[in-house]
Amino acid sequence: MARKIAIYGKGGIGKSTTTQNTAAAMAHFHGKKVFIHGCDPKADSTRLILGGKPQETVMDVLREEGAEKVTNEKVIKSGYLGIHCVESGGPEPGVGCAGRGVITAIDLMETNKAYGDDLDFIFFDVLGDVVCGGFAMPIRDGKAQEVYIVASGEMMAIYAANNICKGLVKYAKQSGVRLGGIICNSRKVDREREFLDEFTASIGTQMIHFVPRDNIVQKAEFNKKTVTEYDASENQAKEYGELARKIIENKNFVIPKPLTMDQLEAMVVKYGIAD
Ligand code: ADP
Ligand code: MG
Repeated sequence: MARKIAIYGKGGIGKSTTTQNTAAAMAHFHGKKVFIHGCDPKADSTRLILGGKPQETVMDVLREEGAEKVTNEKVIKSGYLGIHCVESGGPEPGVGCAGRGVITAIDLMETNKAYGDDLDFIFFDVLGDVVCGGFAMPIRDGKAQEVYIVASGEMMAIYAANNICKGLVKYAKQSGVRLGGIICNSRKVDREREFLDEFTASIGTQMIHFVPRDNIVQKAEFNKKTVTEYDASENQAKEYGELARKIIENKNFVIPKPLTMDQLEAMVVKYGIAD
């Protein structure tokens, strides 16, 4: 059975970049079969894997051609090293609930048996810090069993991570979902590693990996590639390979104990961090 992983974190923190780069490294360095299901209405969760190949979203096809046209052949594209990619897409801007699209798309993929038995890992790349409605779907109904939160030493990123943990606690008992760790995607904030170590320890989890900030990520992105595809000998490719290995070998799954606002603020003051 494939392990189903949901990636959460504040908007712009690097969820899509980290998901795709980790997936590529998992395939390249560890020979794993990976599927990425983008759950952000922006539909930008898979472009580095697909090299910019146009992808029709599930919601686009559903709206324009009807549910029976949402076939695996039509909405799932295969990219770098055979990584499967699907994008939920969203409603027309200003119309309807974006979260619904996530529910609809995951349900359709399940009906289509798209998450095949040959897969090792399925990643859900989920929009921002909103742990409500459709965006909670992957963790609420047991669509994913593992969650990793992308954060940095910036206050708003930690605040979002703590909030996501609160959402996770709410659903953990009924769905069995567990937190596998916090991925630090560095913003080169002072004492970032120490802060993340203390924060993760105090909520009962681990910082699974510290991903450095490196311009090669943008350079590869400019070429519509993950770092591993662009140049697997780069140090940053090895960092994603390490993160991939730690996820593969992870045994640390918990129901987190989120901090109160007072505790969180005390920690922020201690590290002298502002956004
Ligand atoms: P999210 O999906 O959380 O909204 P993205 O993955 O789109 O965020 O990331 C936002 C931007 O940050 C991207 O343009 C990406 O190039 C950049 N970025 C993310 N991680 C890194 C990193 N480790 N080093 C350098 N740039 C990064
Ligand atoms: Mg994204």
